[in-house]
Amino acid sequence: MTSSPFLNQNELGLISLFHSHLGPFTVLGGIAAKHAMMYLNPKRARQITCVVETVPKQPFLCVLDGIQVISFCTMGKGNLIFNPLEENKINLTLKFETETKKIVFKLKNIQELLDKAKDIKNLEKLANRINMGRIDDLFDIERG
Ligand SMILES: [Zn+2]
Repeated sequence: MTSSPFLNQNELGLISLFHSHLGPFTVLGGIAAKHAMMYLNPKRARQITCVVETVPKQPFLCVLDGIQVISFCTMGKGNLIFNPLEENKINLTLKFETETKKIVFKLKNIQELLDKAKDIKNLEKLANRINMGRIDDLFDIERG
C-alpha cells in the first residue's frame, strides 16, 4: 500500500518560508492542523480554536508555526493558545475544537523522534518521511 503525503508541496513550501526551514515538529503541527480542519470543517476562522500543550522549548515550539500556516488558528487572532508544561514533562498535546466538535492529538514516541532529530543534517529528510507516514503512527487521536 502506498500512502500519499499529508501536506502537499505548496503547504510544505509555505511552512518552510514561515518557519525558515522544514523540520519534523513544524510538519507535525501542519499535519495535525490539516487533519483537524478536515474533521472539524470550520466555515470561518473564529469558529475554531487550538490549544497547544507542550514544553516551552525547541523543537516542541516549532509545532506552533506549522499550525498557524495550515489552520485558521493563529496567535494574532487569539484562537491559538499555548499552555506551557514544566520543562521536565516532555509531552505534546494539540486540541482543536469548534462549538460542536473537537479533535485531540497526543504525540507518540516522543523520545524516539527527539533522538532522530538530533541528526541535524537529516531534519528535512525526517520531516518529509513524517509527512509520508500514517497519522496513527504519529499521534493518539481522540475525536468528540
Ligand atoms: Zn523548527
